[in-house]
Amino acid sequence: MGSAASAVGFAVSSPAMSRNLPSFGKSLFFGDLREELIFPFPRLHREEQARTSKLVEQLHEFARQQIDANAIDRDERIPESVLAGLRPLGLFGVNIPTAYGGLGLGAGATCRVFDALGAIDGSLAVTLGTHAALAAKALTVFGSDDQRRRYLPKLASGETIASFAVTEPVAGSDAASIRMRAEPQPDGQGFLLNGSKSWVTNGGLAGLHVLFAQTQVARTAGEVDRISGFLLDPGPGVIVGSERRKLGVRGSSTTALYIEEVRASGAQLLGGLGGGFKVLMETINFGRLAFAAVCLGTTRTLLRLAVQHATSRHQFGRLLSTLGMIKEKCASMAVDLYAAESVVYLTAGLLDASSQGRPIDTSLETACAKVLSSEMLWRAATDASQVAAGCGYANDYPYERLLRDARLYSLYPGGTNEVLRCYIALNGLAGPGEQLARLSDAIKFPLRGYGLVVETLVEKVRTAAYGRAILARHHPRLKREAVLIEDTIESLTREVDRVLRRHGRFIAEMQYVQSRVANVVIDLYAMCASVSRASAALYQKDARGDHAMPEAGGELDRAERELRLCIGFCSRASTRITETLARFTQNDDELMKSIADDCYIGQPYPFDGVL
Ligand SMILES: Cc1cc2nc3c(=O)[nH]c(=O)nc-3n(C[C@H](O)[C@H](O)[C@H](O)COP(=O)(O)OP(=O)(O)OC[C@H]3O[C@@H](n4cnc5c(N)ncnc54)[C@H](O)[C@@H]3O)c2cc1C
Repeated sequence: MGSAASAVGFAVSSPAMSRNLPSFGKSLFFGDLREELIFPFPRLHREEQARTSKLVEQLHEFARQQIDANAIDRDERIPESVLAGLRPLGLFGVNIPTAYGGLGLGAGATCRVFDALGAIDGSLAVTLGTHAALAAKALTVFGSDDQRRRYLPKLASGETIASFAVTEPVAGSDAASIRMRAEPQPDGQGFLLNGSKSWVTNGGLAGLHVLFAQTQVARTAGEVDRISGFLLDPGPGVIVGSERRKLGVRGSSTTALYIEEVRASGAQLLGGLGGGFKVLMETINFGRLAFAAVCLGTTRTLLRLAVQHATSRHQFGRLLSTLGMIKEKCASMAVDLYAAESVVYLTAGLLDASSQGRPIDTSLETACAKVLSSEMLWRAATDASQVAAGCGYANDYPYERLLRDARLYSLYPGGTNEVLRCYIALNGLAGPGEQLARLSDAIKFPLRGYGLVVETLVEKVRTAAYGRAILARHHPRLKREAVLIEDTIESLTREVDRVLRRHGRFIAEMQYVQSRVANVVIDLYAMCASVSRASAALYQKDARGDHAMPEAGGELDRAERELRLCIGFCSRASTRITETLARFTQNDDELMKSIADDCYIGQPYPFDGVL
């Protein structure tokens, strides 16, 4: 079994193709602010916007008439009538190319659909998310022509539902340690698969399993194990376990999958022999974003419920909504939602630009989106339920179901939030770390490294001469927020330099540090995304020549509300960042580690109350 560092090593490796591509998130670690990547805030193409709005409207209309989320939760299944009703809408093939019968929507539009599903029902969102954003996505990107022709039309129509099976009893976060094996057959006729998968979403519904197994691959040093993807139809030896009962998303199917002596031909390999790692990494990059979008929709539902409750219930002769502590909860939900929405749709725009011939590395951004959105949803679920108090605890109201559902997204799909924090920090630090290592080599071997030393000195001089990263494309009314961003980038770069010099390659073991780096970067990216989005709204307002301000107490127009939400998020994020930065040097990490060790070594907690 791999060590924690190697597990995260697996998790942090970027797909080879994303190396050297422009990356907004990674450039922040170098103190660069590549604002051309995030301004102007992406918008869907007019035609795609119209199609998506229509689809989302139809989905909501269908949901109003046919989907009972409480019943799905209570009965622990999605009725066939619901799945049947979603098929003609094209929901199963939302991101499958039109050539294969799908809707062919890009990342932004697909996220808008998953956002809507999140507002409707978690079980449906997880079922369709796994089918479309993971399994169908993997086939679309990595399938051969034959594989696409054979499977995608059925996946698009929903005739076949697919699973995406990686996790095994011994291999959760440490996906590299999966034990399922696909042995090449001596007759050269494909592979023999054996092993088991746990936690297979859609396991009980699937007519196609996209799964991953270890295969032997020839390298110069000899045979080595590498992960390969396989497409497996149900059949003899493909045994589906019983339905697992769960805390939330109870209507989704979750089973184990046992593979016993199953023959697979070479034509069933997905992404080539030993290419499974790349399939996994690229697919979960998209999957993370789609599920982050699900979190947006669910949070919007929670905010609506909390506001409905607060504006209709009186206590002490007053509406709850007039109370400061209730206002704080509703405002925090709105502010966080604005930032998470900005991050999801900005990142989707980067993915869309990438698929339209302007390749961009989005691996860090999708991880930020997933952590930010899933944790926002969890906070919103507890806050909304607190606003509803007793009703929030009762199962004839939706709060408790939404709270249970919300637990999932900080662990599925694409890595738990702990692992994603390591991923964000180590992926980001890898760039400056590599430069630092090359620089120290260059100093040791001055002639060989002359160019690099000069380059780096020139860079230092440039930075000293021109000062720090400057944001220029924001709207003037967001000047203060732009300065907060610039200040944070400066502090982040200083901290990156310091931790790399201090810990060197041992940074891979420094999880307290990684977590802080990731927290700063997530908030920083969310500030940038919010400023980009609010700027777009303000520039549009300027272009309309609309300078009217609302009457006192009147309803603000959209741009003014966006401005307020953006300012609110940036102010809170920057306070959090300041606190986090201070804890790089002043912290109780060592004390906390010893307290944890005490729990592990002796009884976890040997005190019986005050006695
Ligand atoms: C409802 C549901 C549906 C699912 N569907 C699927 C599916 O369709 N396909 C699939 O493949 N999987 C699926 N999963 C599995 C899911 O992906 C795993 O649960 C997840 O990857 C974590 O693995 P684990 O549960 O084994 O936790 P572990 O990996 O054992 O982790 C336990 C804890 O340790 C932490 N941890 C682990 N390693 C590190 C590290 N290096 N640094 C810091 N902290 C660490 C984790 O964050 C977590 O808090 C599903 C899970 C659920 C609950």
